[in-house]
Amino acid sequence: MEIEEMQELLDVDPPESLWSKIEAGIAKLHDETKRCPVCEAKKPLVEFYKNQSWCIACYKDYREKNKAKRRITYHKYYLENAERLKEKQRTYGQDHKETVKERKLQERICNPAKYMLRTKRNECKKFGVEFTLEMSDLLPLPEICPVLGIKLNYVVLSGRPENNSPSIDRLNNAIGYLHGNVRVISNRANRLKSDGTAEEHQKIVDYMKGENVRISEAVETFDTVGTAATTQRHAH
Ligand SMILES: [Zn+2]
Repeated sequence: MEIEEMQELLDVDPPESLWSKIEAGIAKLHDETKRCPVCEAKKPLVEFYKNQSWCIACYKDYREKNKAKRRITYHKYYLENAERLKEKQRTYGQDHKETVKERKLQERICNPAKYMLRTKRNECKKFGVEFTLEMSDLLPLPEICPVLGIKLNYVVLSGRPENNSPSIDRLNNAIGYLHGNVRVISNRANRLKSDGTAEEHQKIVDYMKGENVRISEAVETFDTVGTAATTQRHAH
């Protein structure tokens, strides 16, 4: 799905019914448990993929061990079904609008890091920026913006980011969103620093501080003149 389409979906405030559905879904994921037949542990549903009997950890383990084999199998399957798969991928968003919307919202609430990662990956793909980030690059998500010290809000549901929305910031803007080159800061801090180098920002800070001094001097001068003028007027 295109990023614009995604934003369009998120621009719409979810109706009350959808909210309660999402909330109930989240509660269920944490409260209900299921036994994994592989590791034989009883785990909450959140640790399983939807409608799968194995737990996520066991799946990952299996996939890791069978990486090469799975790649060949999948490639063969993809080649044999390329047209059908492409068509399915193309029309899925259209055919399942409500499901897509619900899933996006749920992900945004339950797993903001994953949501942020996906949004940024799409953006990078669109603008041809290098992207190698994984969840581990963002976790643990900070509660407070490390730059401005404001509390970050990970569940802003309007499409437009607010000042306290989290955003992925690059330490070095000359390279892409790569391992070790990012941290999560507030959208406001990111916007403020987006254009300019540390030296330029320092100059702005110096200027603003200097300007404040000059303003207070000006006010003082004005007061003196003002008082003088008043006194003069009274004298006449
Ligand atoms: Zn398991």
